[in-house]
Amino acid sequence: MRDELDRSILILHGEHPGPQAGVGYPQDSADAGASLSEADRTEAVLISARAQREEVLAALARIEDNTYGHCVDCGHQIPAGRLDARPEAARCVSCQSAYAKRRR
Ligand SMILES: [Zn+2]
Repeated sequence: MRDELDRSILILHGEHPGPQAGVGYPQDSADAGASLSEADRTEAVLISARAQREEVLAALARIEDNTYGHCVDCGHQIPAGRLDARPEAARCVSCQSAYAKRRR
């Protein structure tokens, strides 16, 4: 499972290789709006990739603590099927949906 998470982190690293030289500074003002929204989209992807990477790192810390696989809110075992789909999941399905509601 830890190897699985290490692979997830590597994939996440690969998804945002960093700024590309010479791209993103159009001289034509007509392109400015389009390029801005492109930058916004890239930023949104980066933010979600970083957030998921944080979750993966937190999951690795839970492996160290021997609490991995248990919901951080209710402490119950997270179903294996859920961990297969989201190895970095910190909460069982019901706590995750309650957590998502609290954040809204
Ligand atoms: Zn729970």
